[in-house]
Amino acid sequence: MATSYFTFNKVTRDHANHQHQTIVPLVTLLNSEIVRPLQVSYYMANDYFITDLAQQNIIDKSKVSGYLTNIQDKYNLLAFLALEKHNFMLDSNGKQLNLAEDEAEWYRRLKDQSLDYYADIGNSENPHLYFDVKIKSEAGEFLGFAGVAVDLDHFAKRFETYKNKYGVELFVADQNNDITLSSDITMKTHSHHRKDEITNLTEFEWFNAYQTKDNSAQVSQLVDTKSAQFMVSKLPLPELSWDMYIVSPPHYLQTSYWRLVASKVVILLLVALSLYIAFERILRVFKTNVVQNSETDFLTQLPNRSYINWKIEDIRREFTSVSVVVADIDKFKNINDKYGHLVGDEVLKSVANKLVEALRKVDIVSRWGGEEFLMILPETSCGQAKEITERIRKTIESATINVSSSNEDFFVTVSFGIAQGSLQNESLNDIIQKADQALYLAKTNGRNQVITYEKRDDKTDQLTVG
Ligand code: GH3
Ligand code: MG
Ligand code: MG
Repeated sequence: MATSYFTFNKVTRDHANHQHQTIVPLVTLLNSEIVRPLQVSYYMANDYFITDLAQQNIIDKSKVSGYLTNIQDKYNLLAFLALEKHNFMLDSNGKQLNLAEDEAEWYRRLKDQSLDYYADIGNSENPHLYFDVKIKSEAGEFLGFAGVAVDLDHFAKRFETYKNKYGVELFVADQNNDITLSSDITMKTHSHHRKDEITNLTEFEWFNAYQTKDNSAQVSQLVDTKSAQFMVSKLPLPELSWDMYIVSPPHYLQTSYWRLVASKVVILLLVALSLYIAFERILRVFKTNVVQNSETDFLTQLPNRSYINWKIEDIRREFTSVSVVVADIDKFKNINDKYGHLVGDEVLKSVANKLVEALRKVDIVSRWGGEEFLMILPETSCGQAKEITERIRKTIESATINVSSSNEDFFVTVSFGIAQGSLQNESLNDIIQKADQALYLAKTNGRNQVITYEKRDDKTDQLTVG
């Protein structure tokens, strides 16, 4: 009894050490090699610069190149963009491809599938793992793909280092059990050159033995093949519909340490469980980010339109009345045309900041569309809203914008429309629409002004300007 107690203790202690040494680098590895590139791709596909570009009739390829090079320098990943409307793909190495060509087979294959992002092996002479994220317009129309690619050599090296250090093999496979990544450096060169040569997991004895077991309840299994015993742990990567297998090869199992561990199946399960939990945690962080991103505007970091739509019921419950202010930057297109998109972006950020600074904590400032902002001021009369908005208008009007790329300073102005309403009598959308009508009037009246929607003359269907 006493001996077995001490053995048990030793195993737990060794195991805790080993677990720590194995898991932390594995989490880091997965994070830097899979989650991070996926996130960068996601950011690109949702960047206004890209969605706007993808819808323009004529495109300036040097601007696209500049953007891609920027991403490459910043994240050290090959970045690419494939645009439906313009029928070409460009990457940060300057390579250009017509989307009708054979090499762009992936594009035609993935565009009609229902998921919004994919990971795909491509580029025959120099295989890369591509993270492809669909670019969509605000209305949900498909505009192309944006993403990054990671050199498989780089992957293989990272995995190989891990394998040498911890004595385990890593395999990542898709739903058909085709291996997408592995720590076996020779397999990479044999398998990823051409699609029909990709190695399938069923070619391994350990995998077939693993498949015959009931794996529903446990993450790890000891499997026996004719030649040896393996420990196999399976971790799902649901973001990609892939599975990762961690396989302890025979020589490793045969060390005294592993013989000891293998005799304690309970402890094996613990190892697997910790791995699983660690991985789940990364995925959870990733998912939270994605949800947050989908409700936060990337450029200004303000809540976006879908956030407001999601909040409508809460606003109705919490407040009895609101004033809604819609703001639209005047002649913003001219700023883009004259100083470039990046300066345009800076102007948007600076206007967003001024709106936030001028309002209270309970007020909501959101980016409603391209250069339009929507503000919701709870329990605020039309008169008060007008006063506050007028102050904001003046602040913006008198602030100089400096452009670092030229010596020229310029000014920007904004037009505002305001409507006030009781949430008991009308919907927030109705009030927003009224504010929109007032904004339209501010534009047609000469811009750089605040107009309130107060009364509507039913006969003439005209707004009375307040
Ligand atoms: P108006 O005074 O009538 O509002 O004129 P405008 O030029 O501001 O209006 P228009 O709607 O014609 O143009 C809006 C422009 O805003 C077009 C679009 O390219 C640009 N835009 C929208 N979102 C962004 C962005 O995130 N960054 C940059 N740089 N430009 C943007
Ligand atoms: Mg405008
Ligand atoms: Mg506009």
